[in-house]
Amino acid sequence: MLRKNRLFTPGPTPLLPSAQAAMAAFTAHHRTADFRNLFQRVLADMKEFVGTRNEVLVMACSGTGAMEAAVSNLTSPGEKVLVLSAGKFGERWTGLTKAFNCKVEVLSAPYGETFSLNDIRAKLTPEVGAVFVQATESSTGARHDAQGIAKLVRDRGDDTLLVVDAITGLGTTHLDVDGWGIDFLIGGSQKALMIPPGLGYCAVSDRAWQRMEATKSPRFYFDLRKERKSAAKGETASTPATSLFAALGAALEFIRGMGNGDLAKGREALVDNAELCAEMTRAGVEALGLKLFTSSPGAALTAICSPPGVDSGKIIKEFRESFDAVVANGQGEMKGQLFRIAHIGYYDYLDTIGILGALEHVVARVTGKAVQYGTAVRAAQQVYAREVAGKRQLVNA
Ligand SMILES: *Cc1c(COP(=O)(O)O)cnc(C)c1O
Repeated sequence: MLRKNRLFTPGPTPLLPSAQAAMAAFTAHHRTADFRNLFQRVLADMKEFVGTRNEVLVMACSGTGAMEAAVSNLTSPGEKVLVLSAGKFGERWTGLTKAFNCKVEVLSAPYGETFSLNDIRAKLTPEVGAVFVQATESSTGARHDAQGIAKLVRDRGDDTLLVVDAITGLGTTHLDVDGWGIDFLIGGSQKALMIPPGLGYCAVSDRAWQRMEATKSPRFYFDLRKERKSAAKGETASTPATSLFAALGAALEFIRGMGNGDLAKGREALVDNAELCAEMTRAGVEALGLKLFTSSPGAALTAICSPPGVDSGKIIKEFRESFDAVVANGQGEMKGQLFRIAHIGYYDYLDTIGILGALEHVVARVTGKAVQYGTAVRAAQQVYAREVAGKRQLVNA
């Protein structure tokens, strides 16, 4: 059968056609009025997309670059920081803060789990200068309680900053950056913004800007004070990824369209879309008798335990060979034990139903056991039908 190559991975994600076209067409030099106009419009729109009044900066780097910018701008060598780690990306915070010689306290939860707020409270001593966490841990599919964590940090006053890696959280999780008091929120272009990898962005609070004046970690490319000064003039400190800015502009327009002309509403609609796709996926997977890997699943992705005795690598391979569908394996110590289906960004009903239909064939193949075809698909359709019926009732009421 003909097979279309499709990504079901938690980054990169499926590309928005209008963004690809905008990118291919863009040729302006970056020190021109044309680029400045685009740049300023994109930065203003990014604030609405993130849902913040804080300044948003967009840099030419992957998400990890923006994570490094958080550490290098907000900490000093020898300073105590608290890392909340429950997976591969939590471990990245540990690696980064150690690389910048912070005194790192790690509160870890096992892969697949999330943190107890009481444990966090106990670790939040007055010396802790900053707390680092993920909104959603993409290696396990778990969503952390960013609101609850923010409340604990804000209760400590202005001396502790909260840094949230929302690289897969943005666009899949309702986040109130200003209301909760998140000081540094990080995103990446290849996730919910539906464009290729290459841009990292961050929303920076006043508290965080003030902290940067006193911190002593080395920084140059990611010196955010320098970047902020340039941005005020409609420029970046070094050459920006111009074509990706064009793509980002088109993606933000698309999301605005989802909100009927209101970008903030479009963001909410994008999150609701991911939530519904995730709920359909969970229902389908469980109806097939498979187990979810985490008990606190987010809407970015669904992590699924491999059937007993089956290496998840076989599932990944079968998806690829039979359907040209790219599904993610477990990462790190979870490799071979789980597989991950993402529903981030440009991802819809038909994608959801399609991957569940394919999953039925894949499970039959790798387990050698009979599968009642339609089981996963039907469970997902029932979730969708309930959701649509509920909306109609609201409209009629
Ligand atoms: C994808 C991802 C990253 C890493 O981003 P890169 O763009 O690969 O550097 C970091 N954190 C989370 C939660 C992610 O999903």
